[in-house]
Order: sequence, then structure tokens, then C-alpha cells
Amino acid sequence: MTVNRQIRLKSRPVGAPTAANFDVVEATMPAAGDGGVLRRTIYLSLDPYMRGRMNDAKSYAPPVAVGDVMCGHTISQVVESRHPAFRPGDFVAGYDGWQQYAVSDGRELRKLDPQAAPISTGIGVLGMPGMTAYVGLIDIAKPKAGETVVVSAASGAVGSAVGQLARVRGCRAVGIAGSADKCRYVTDELGFDACVDYKSGDLVASLRGACPSGIDIYFENVGGTVFGAVLRHLNRGARIPLCGLVSEYNATTVERGASLLPLLVARATLQGFIVSDHTDRFGAALQEMAPLVRDGRLKYREDITEGLDAAPDAFIGLLAGRNFGKALVRISPDPTR
Ligand code: NDP
Repeated sequence: MTVNRQIRLKSRPVGAPTAANFDVVEATMPAAGDGGVLRRTIYLSLDPYMRGRMNDAKSYAPPVAVGDVMCGHTISQVVESRHPAFRPGDFVAGYDGWQQYAVSDGRELRKLDPQAAPISTGIGVLGMPGMTAYVGLIDIAKPKAGETVVVSAASGAVGSAVGQLARVRGCRAVGIAGSADKCRYVTDELGFDACVDYKSGDLVASLRGACPSGIDIYFENVGGTVFGAVLRHLNRGARIPLCGLVSEYNATTVERGASLLPLLVARATLQGFIVSDHTDRFGAALQEMAPLVRDGRLKYREDITEGLDAAPDAFIGLLAGRNFGKALVRISPDPTR
């Protein structure tokens, strides 16, 4: 193999991204070099935050430059290593982006044990999305048994873990999701107490039915009209970890729908957080979550797209709610499956 296929940012989208914003490029295969670790990408994680990196706007992380490889978490297998800690065949989690091969000095790589959990979980329930669920729910919202926890994008990578962790803590878990199928999965497979389809019926009324004792914690993933509906049911002292606002990521102008007055009346705490500020908590999170995944009490669902060239379309679909579960792209065969 002499070619490294890559997907680069060709232009910055206005509104929803299209295929024209991406370039498929055949670059020269990188070499391991002195102290280097060369690896082949198996899985690429697609995440909503990538939409922000396509904009040239001030945020918590710098944008991807036009012409650069799109960024992203990856699971890879080491092909060649001149680093004492890595051997050919090792599986690693890294941040190699949308490409078939990558090389570095290995500092940022995390070795994975394929016997402990499927390697793809390293960028899913036991990776960045799972850590986000843990930090936002456990550290920021501090759930107590008997409280009602509501989470939006409930069938997705972050939301599915939030509700299940809430159940483990003895809370009532209520999901909000975008179809009857997703809601059925959230209650029947993941064990949430209830799930509301925000695309059908009156969301304020449906939430009243699903949360008879009101809402103590709202784990916010979407924003917009869903946020406004949830606020109407907040209990006194409610906490709102502000994790994401996916309904706004493609917006050119944001609707000013939600009055913040209910936050005041409920003496609620709303706290924004970025998971990468909380890496000191990942050890504790994994210690609790890995056994839950192993014994089936923390379930996850993957939505796998085949082939690097299909990544742009899958990403466009993620921002439109077309994914059902953690969005992954299989770039090359997974030898552990
Ligand atoms: P998901 O796997 O949940 O996929 C995104 C989902 O968002 C879609 O499937 C869709 O589900 C839902 N969605 C809700 N409203 C809309 C809308 N208006 N248009 C399109 N989709 C919508 O993604 P993740 O679990 O990876 O991420 C969930 C949230 O967490 C995102 O906002 C993300 O940015 C945030 N996040 C924040 C982090 C942090 O450090 N703060 C770290 C990681 C993620 P449905 O059909 O149910 O509506």
C-alpha cells in the first residue's frame, strides 16, 4: 500500500454541510520514522462537534483549516513501530482524523485490550461520548436516587449512556428522541422509564405525562424548542448540564424560542461543560462503566457506515438525526470481529 486516502475540508459550509465541502485526496503513505508509530485506521468516530470545527469562528477549540484533513477520534491497528511501547498488531485509540493511515510519536495514543471490550467502544460508550455522559451527569448534575433525569438525543452515543447511568443511580430516566422507533429502543432495550417523541404531538403535555414529579435534572444535548418545553417542568433546585445544542449547529440564524424565565423561577443551575477539561475523571468513569458494559447493564448501539468515502454523507446525516446509535465509519476491516 503506497497511498493514504484522506478526506479534507475543501470549503466552509453555510448552513448544513454538503458533499461539496469535502475533498477526497490520495496522499503519500506516511513512514514510521525515528520513534514513530504508523497505524491503519479501523474506525472513525463521527461526532456533532465536527460541524463547529468546519466554521472559522471562535470556539473552545481551533477550527480545521481549509485544505486540512478533517479531525476525529479513531481506533487503529499499529502497522509499524519504532517506539518501545507499541508493537505491530496493537490496537489503539487516537485522534487521527478522516484518513486511512497516520503516524506520530505515540504520545496521544491509548492502548486497547480487545479482550476487555469491543475495540469500537473506545470511541463510543467507553470513549469520549461515554466520558461526556459520566462527567455531565455524575460530576455536574450530581443525581440523587428518586430524582427525575431527562435527556435529549436519548438514543445517541451520549444520551443513551446518561439515562442508563441515571437508572444505576436509582433515578427515573426519561428520554427525548426523534422517532417512535428510537423511543421504543430507549425504553425497551436501554431500560429508560419513559421516552417522548419530540416530533409527534405536544411536547409540553407529553413531558408532563412522562415526568409526573417534575424534572430535577435536564441533560441538554439539543437546544431549541425542546429546551423551551423542558424548562416548563423544572423542579426547584433543578440542575442543567449544558452538553450540546445540536439543533443549532447548522443554523445560520438561531431562533430565540426559549424564555429563560423558568430557570429563574426554579432557582435552577445551568452549567456548560467541555469533556476535554475533565480528563482527570476518565479513570473513575471507566472503572465504573467498563464493568457495566461487560455485564450488559450499560448497553450501546452502533450505526456503522462502510468506507472512508461514505463519511461525508454519514456526517451530514448525523446532523439531520439520520443516525440511530453511535455514528462510526469502518475505514478498514476489524480483525477482532
Ligand atoms: P448523537 O449520537 O445523539 O447524534 C445526534 C442526534 O441529535 C441525532 O441522532 C438526533 O437524534 C439529535 N437531534 C436533536 N435535535 C436535532 C435537530 N434539530 N437536528 C438534527 N438532529 C437532532 O450524538 P452524540 O451523542 O455524539 O452527541 C449528543 C450531544 O452531545 C451533541 O449536542 C454533541 O455536540 C454533545 N457533546 C458535547 C460534548 C461536550 O464536551 N460538551 C462532548 C460530546 C458530545 P433524534 O432523532 O433523537 O433527534
